[in-house]
Amino acid sequence: MSENAADLYDVIVVGSGGGLIGAYAAAARGLRTLVIEKTEFVGGTTSYSGAGMWLPGNAAEQRAGLPDTRDGARLYLDAIVGDDSPASLREAFLQAGPAMIEELEKNPRFGEFQFLGVPDYFAGQPGALPGGRTIFPQDFDRGELGDLEPLVRRPLWTERWGVDVESTMVGGQALIGRALLAFMETGNGTVLTNTGLERLIVEDGAVVGVQASSNGEPVTFRAGKGVILAAGGYERNAELRRKYQPEIGDEWTQGCEGNTGDALTAGIDIGAATDLLEESWFAPGLVVPDTRPVFYTSVWSGIWVNAAGQRYMNERLPYDRAGHEMLKAHRTSDASPLPTHWVFDQRQIDNESAFAAALPVAPDVPGWFDVEKFIAAGVLHRADTLDELAELIGVPAGALTKTVDQYNGYARTGKDEDFGRGEAPWDLMTVYLGGAHTDGPNPCLGVIDQGPFYAAKIVLSDLGTKGGLKTDDHARVVRPDGSVIAGLYASGNTMAPVTGRIYPGAGGPIGSSMAFAYIAALDMAQKS
Ligand SMILES: Cc1cc2nc3c(=O)[nH]c(=O)nc-3n(C[C@H](O)[C@H](O)[C@H](O)COP(=O)(O)OP(=O)(O)OC[C@H]3O[C@@H](n4cnc5c(N)ncnc54)[C@H](O)[C@@H]3O)c2cc1C
Repeated sequence: MSENAADLYDVIVVGSGGGLIGAYAAAARGLRTLVIEKTEFVGGTTSYSGAGMWLPGNAAEQRAGLPDTRDGARLYLDAIVGDDSPASLREAFLQAGPAMIEELEKNPRFGEFQFLGVPDYFAGQPGALPGGRTIFPQDFDRGELGDLEPLVRRPLWTERWGVDVESTMVGGQALIGRALLAFMETGNGTVLTNTGLERLIVEDGAVVGVQASSNGEPVTFRAGKGVILAAGGYERNAELRRKYQPEIGDEWTQGCEGNTGDALTAGIDIGAATDLLEESWFAPGLVVPDTRPVFYTSVWSGIWVNAAGQRYMNERLPYDRAGHEMLKAHRTSDASPLPTHWVFDQRQIDNESAFAAALPVAPDVPGWFDVEKFIAAGVLHRADTLDELAELIGVPAGALTKTVDQYNGYARTGKDEDFGRGEAPWDLMTVYLGGAHTDGPNPCLGVIDQGPFYAAKIVLSDLGTKGGLKTDDHARVVRPDGSVIAGLYASGNTMAPVTGRIYPGAGGPIGSSMAFAYIAALDMAQKS
C-alpha cells in the first residue's frame, strides 16, 4: 500500500468519460485533480459516441438562432419526465448546461460547439423542438495531443473491425481528446490509467479518498474536497444485470468494457441511495457478422415483427423509445419481440447507404456490409418468398404474409393505421439519411414486394445503464433519508438520471453526464 504527499489531491474523479469535464472544471479553478481510469484508455463509452450533447439554451444553439428558452426546456422535461426525477435536479441541469458550454468555449482547446438539428424525441409534447437542442464538438486534429494521444480510447470501429485510426478525431473521440488536453494544460491535472476504484475511504462519515488497484498494486489516494464517481453504468456486469434487468443481460450492450458498476457498488457499500437501476439508455441493435449488435437508429425500409410474425411498434421511433417498446411488448405479449425480425426486400440491400446512414458513428468500414457474410454468420436470412422466409426465421408463414400485405396497404394509402409511422419529425429525418425510397404518399412507408426477401436480427441493446446513485442538486450523493454523504459526488451513468426513464433528445446521456460532473466541480471549488 503506498501513501505519500503525492497521493494527496483536492479532487479525485473516478472514470474518464463525461467525468473529464468535471476534472477540467476543478483543475481550471486551481484544484489539484486526479482522474483514475480502470482501463488502459481514457474516454469510456463517451469516446465511442457521436458526442451529441442535449443541453437546452446553450450558446451554440443561440448562435444558430434557435428560439430555445429555459422555460421551454423545463416545460418539455416536466411533461416527459414527470416524477421520475426531482424537478429541482432538472432545474440544476438547465442552469448548469449553458454556463458550462460558455466556460468551455472560452478555452480554445474545446473550441466552439456546433448546433446540428436533431429533433427532440417526444414530438408534440409541450416545449418539444422539431429542430432539437443537440450540439456537437468540432472535429479535432489527433496530432495536437502529442504524447497524450495513445491514452485516448480507440474509436469503436478500430476496436471492433481493426479500421486504421484516422488523423482527424470526430464525435466522442474529439470531445475526449479536447477535454484531456485542456485538463492537462491546466497544470493541475493527473491521469492514471489501469487504475480502478475498489472502495471509498470514509472517515467520520465523510468520503476522504479512494482505495484503488493500479496495475495490480493496491494504492490509496486522498481527496481534500471530494470524489466524483463518474465510472459509467453497470452494463458490463452480468450479475448486476441479472439482478436489476433480468430480461436483458449484458451480452448486447454497447457500453465500454470498463463499465462493471464498481462505483455504484462502492457507493451502495457506504450507504448511498439508488434510483431507477432497472433503466438503461436503450437502443435496438442490428446484429452484424461478429454476432454483436451495432447501434442502429432506424429502419430505412421494411418492418419489424415479433415471434408471431406481427408488427408491434412504429419501427422509426427514436431508439430509446423503440427499446422501451420492445421491452414492454416482451413483458406483455406471448409473442416476444426479443429478438425482433427486421423484414425487408431487395431494395434495402441495393441501397447500401441505407444501412450505413443509420449507424450514427460508423465511418466507411470497408466491406462491412457484405450480404453473404451476414448470411453465413446466421444474422441475416434470405428467401424468394415471404413464406419461405417465415420458415427460416421460425414465425408462422401465413401470419408474416398477412402482416406484410396489411403494411403494404398502409404504404399505398400513406397512413400507418396501427402505429403512425412517418408522422413525427424524427421519422422523417431518418428518410433523409438513407435517401427517399418511395415516391408513394408517405416517404417512411415503402411497399415490401420486390424479392428476394430478407430478415435481419435486431436485439434489445443499450448505450449504457442509466440508474445509479441518488444525488441532490449539487451532484452530492445522498443516503436513503436524503442526508448528504459529505465528500461524495456522482455523475453520468453512475448517477440516478436527471431525465428519469426517458431520453429527451440526441445527447441526453452525455449532456447530463458533463453537466453534473461540472456541477460537482463547482461545488467543490467553493468549499473552503
Ligand atoms: C455508438 C454509441 C454512440 C453514442 N452516441 C451518443 C451521443 O451522440 N450522445 C450521447 O449523449 N450519448 C451517446 N451514447 C451514449 C453515451 O456514450 C454513454 O451513455 C455516456 O458516454 C456514458 O458516459 P459516462 O461518463 O457515464 O461513462 P463512460 O464514458 O463510459 O466513462 C466511464 C469510465 O469509467 C471507467 N471506470 C469504470 N469503473 C471504474 C473504476 N472502478 N475505476 C476507475 N474507472 C472506472 C470506465 O472504464 C470508463 O472509461 C452513445 C453510445 C454508443 C455506444
